[in-house]
Amino acid sequence: MPQQARAPECPPETHDLFIIGGGINGCGIARDAAGRGLSVALAEMGDLAQATSSASTKLFHGGLRYLEYFEFRLVREALIERETLLRAMPHISWPMRFVLPYHRDMRFESDTPTSRLLARIMPWMKGRRPAWLIRFGLFLYDRLGTRTILPGTSDLDLRQDPAGAPLKERFVKAFEYSDCWIEDARLVVLNARDAKQRGARIMTRTKVVSAQGCENHWEITVEDVESGTRAIHRARALVNAAGPWVGDILTNTIGSTNRDRVRLVRGSHIVTRRLYDHDKSYFFQGPDGRIIFAIPYETDFTLIGTTDTDHADAAQVPVCTPEEQRYLLDFASDYFKTPVTDADVIWTYSGVRPLYDDGANSATAATRDYLLKLSEEDGAPLLNIFGGKITTYRKLAEAAMARVTPYFSTCSGEWTAGISLPGGDFPVDGVEQLVCRLLEQYPFLDNRWALRLVRAYGTDTFEVLGDARTTKDLGQEFGASITERELLWGITNEWVCTAEDFVWRRSKLGLRLTQDQIDRIDDFIQETRSAFVEGQGSTENPAVALG
Ligand SMILES: Cc1cc2nc3c(=O)[nH]c(=O)nc-3n(C[C@H](O)[C@H](O)[C@H](O)COP(=O)(O)OP(=O)(O)OC[C@H]3O[C@@H](n4cnc5c(N)ncnc54)[C@H](O)[C@@H]3O)c2cc1C
Repeated sequence: MPQQARAPECPPETHDLFIIGGGINGCGIARDAAGRGLSVALAEMGDLAQATSSASTKLFHGGLRYLEYFEFRLVREALIERETLLRAMPHISWPMRFVLPYHRDMRFESDTPTSRLLARIMPWMKGRRPAWLIRFGLFLYDRLGTRTILPGTSDLDLRQDPAGAPLKERFVKAFEYSDCWIEDARLVVLNARDAKQRGARIMTRTKVVSAQGCENHWEITVEDVESGTRAIHRARALVNAAGPWVGDILTNTIGSTNRDRVRLVRGSHIVTRRLYDHDKSYFFQGPDGRIIFAIPYETDFTLIGTTDTDHADAAQVPVCTPEEQRYLLDFASDYFKTPVTDADVIWTYSGVRPLYDDGANSATAATRDYLLKLSEEDGAPLLNIFGGKITTYRKLAEAAMARVTPYFSTCSGEWTAGISLPGGDFPVDGVEQLVCRLLEQYPFLDNRWALRLVRAYGTDTFEVLGDARTTKDLGQEFGASITERELLWGITNEWVCTAEDFVWRRSKLGLRLTQDQIDRIDDFIQETRSAFVEGQGSTENPAVALG
């Protein structure tokens, strides 16, 4: 279905800032820029968060392992950000404790600065990690950033602590530290929603097919990927936040001779049946020096990942290969008493990290820090975004704005720290209270349903459910407590255009639905969108026109 497309003869729309890419970096910059009073347009060729930003490990974390690479700036910024972000979105983010079992065979990856230093001063360790060094790393991790909500590191006796129960008996000692969980794809859509509420134009299923700098501005041609209709936009500045496609945009869409290169590193995850009963995550260290996480996921499942493999081409859809699945299963089975097997795997997903190519030997060693490269094409500024993490998206957006604001005479300053995302205007520890308020107002909900809604929509849940008095008022039920009312909210407020958008990105309810149920959801979405177009005589997405 076409959306936002204009006939080529229409005069170009003019904006201050045009952003390519509806991942976390594009949407974060759109929100920040719109809040500073700039007129902003963003084009995403697929769905919001369709690429890397829905395929992460979903942690707001400092990145403990980056300490070994001496990436202190990145770790410190990310550690400080965790609590700033948590306060702004207590519905989609929450504190999580990580258990790091210690054993004598723990090894460093061989080419980190720390391993090289240790090889020189303690050659007899032969690459092993002494317990005191891990404790020292965690001491730094606790103190490098500010921390008022999250508890610090503690030592665990795995023979006594429930966290030891699912692990093999050889693990007797562990360290426990804090980081945060984040629903990555919802983070993206909430940034887009906030940007839109502040005046930004967000166009999904809209591909940028060419961009040319001419006399201090950009002429950008976009194509509606469903109808093929093209339209032209004009903007003073252009941001290339195309993630894995950042190089493709530079070379093929802009035709730039810029020499900066992106290094594509694939990371895959497996989702298994729930492997243990408590709510803590594990940080496992492998004999190859790599680490993986095992994380409680969507109540009934466990998330295990990730891998690090060079990925040849952004156009190649990333999938978890049988080798990657085997690697993750063997890795986890080294720790869990009950081996994790193929039969336990329910779903897999894979994403591509768009890292700045710093010439590192291995994919694991390539820097996770972000780099912003500003250039001009015929007097028109172009900002290219390389690398970054979900955790640093807000700081990245601020850094991006610092680079482009000199081009605008009226543009206010930083504002996003401390301002909640849609639905996040309640205290960090207020989820339970919000669930109680919801149950009081909508007594037909049960606890699990109410919690699911609060974790997705926060205080906006009252708007999603509106004046409903009974479940019947919510319309058809599609399975897994999805109702017509919720789908309408997704279509009108969250750019939902297909069942896949809703069941795998606005939620992870695809884990609980049959293909028939997903097909029914898709039929409903398509009928609603068609009815809207017929009713309005408009080709615009209901999200744009109604939202
Ligand atoms: C396996 C894995 C695990 C990770 N885990 C974590 C973690 O736990 N914590 C953390 O902080 N970070 C993590 N990250 C990093 C984080 O996910 C990424 O840094 C971040 O998602 C990158 O966002 P982005 O917006 O730059 O790219 P993307 O999300 O890929 O967005 C770019 C968008 O641009 C669009 N696009 C491309 N070309 C065009 C065009 N021509 N026209 C219009 N649109 C276009 C694409 O469709 C895409 O949606 C992880 C990454 C991976 C791969």
